[in-house]
Amino acid sequence: MLHTAVSRRDFLKTSTLAGASTILTGSRVPPTRIAGPVAIASGNGLGAVARAVEEINGGADALDAVISGVNLVEEDPNDTSVGYGGLPNAEGVVELDSAVMHGPTGRAGAVASLQGIKYPSKVARLVLQRTDHVLLVAEGAQRFARMHGFQIEDLLTERARESWVRWRENLSNRDDYLPPHGPDDRDLGEALRRNEDHWGTIHCSAIDLNGHISSVTTTSGLAFKIPGRVGDSPIIGAGLYCDNEVGAAGSTGRGEANLENCCSFLIVERMRMGDSPEAACLYACQRIAEHTHLARLQNEAGQPSFNVSFYALNKAGEVGGARIRGRGRMAVADANGARHIRMAYLYE
Ligand code: ASP
Repeated sequence: MLHTAVSRRDFLKTSTLAGASTILTGSRVPPTRIAGPVAIASGNGLGAVARAVEEINGGADALDAVISGVNLVEEDPNDTSVGYGGLPNAEGVVELDSAVMHGPTGRAGAVASLQGIKYPSKVARLVLQRTDHVLLVAEGAQRFARMHGFQIEDLLTERARESWVRWRENLSNRDDYLPPHGPDDRDLGEALRRNEDHWGTIHCSAIDLNGHISSVTTTSGLAFKIPGRVGDSPIIGAGLYCDNEVGAAGSTGRGEANLENCCSFLIVERMRMGDSPEAACLYACQRIAEHTHLARLQNEAGQPSFNVSFYALNKAGEVGGARIRGRGRMAVADANGARHIRMAYLYE
């Protein structure tokens, strides 16, 4: 292993010390520590964490458990941000991104711009298990899925199609193409400020009965995106990262900001240095805020006008999350059941 293994006792010690000395702006919530098997997810993952912990208690590996958890959301036509029923790209085609990471082996698998397959997280697991690669995209990813017996389905529900038609009929300068502009983008003007984009994703990480950690993130990505656009979700180190000796992190929100800052990797490295999961997530929010220089991405106060949320757990079973803007909640489950907990935030 390249990293230094941290014992549980040392980890808790450094975690408390360094966590206390980390100074950040914004709101914090009291630490949540959970014993035994534990799963965390974005706020839309209450059912996912419940299922993940149930499977772990039945002896499942954390990787299979988190994938089984997010499958609930992937197949749910009423969640318009993930899998079946996800909002399509600008041409009305649903394109899905997903990544998985398996702590004990350090292996990862991912798919991007995958069309016609309801469960991209299962295909990402097959990339991990049945190839020597990490990321397959578009047609190649679909052919690989078909080779393994997946059926091609129409993923565009009536509800998502109607949303897409409404979007098309109201097209304005709110799309994702930008006209030529100067380096600081101020000449683009007010109209191109980003704050109303539609995001949605599910991330889920868990620790199993062997103390092994695994993670999954799965999404239909930014609604009405330019065809072929890939967000942070299937990118290892951005949409998720997992180190079996330290912990795991994942994200939802504006993928471009996360891709430019590799935040899930950053969060795991901060936890390695002793940050609590929440402090590490806030640190990543702060990093994004400091790196957001373009006027079209800022509000009047010069803060990021968009949101990114992070969810993390460490080897000791502590969990926490943070987002750039506003109050939010994340899902947590352990042997005592599933519930929502509050997340910290940088700005109201
Ligand atoms: N992060 C995802 C992406 O940028 C979208 C989301 O979380 O809503 O594709």
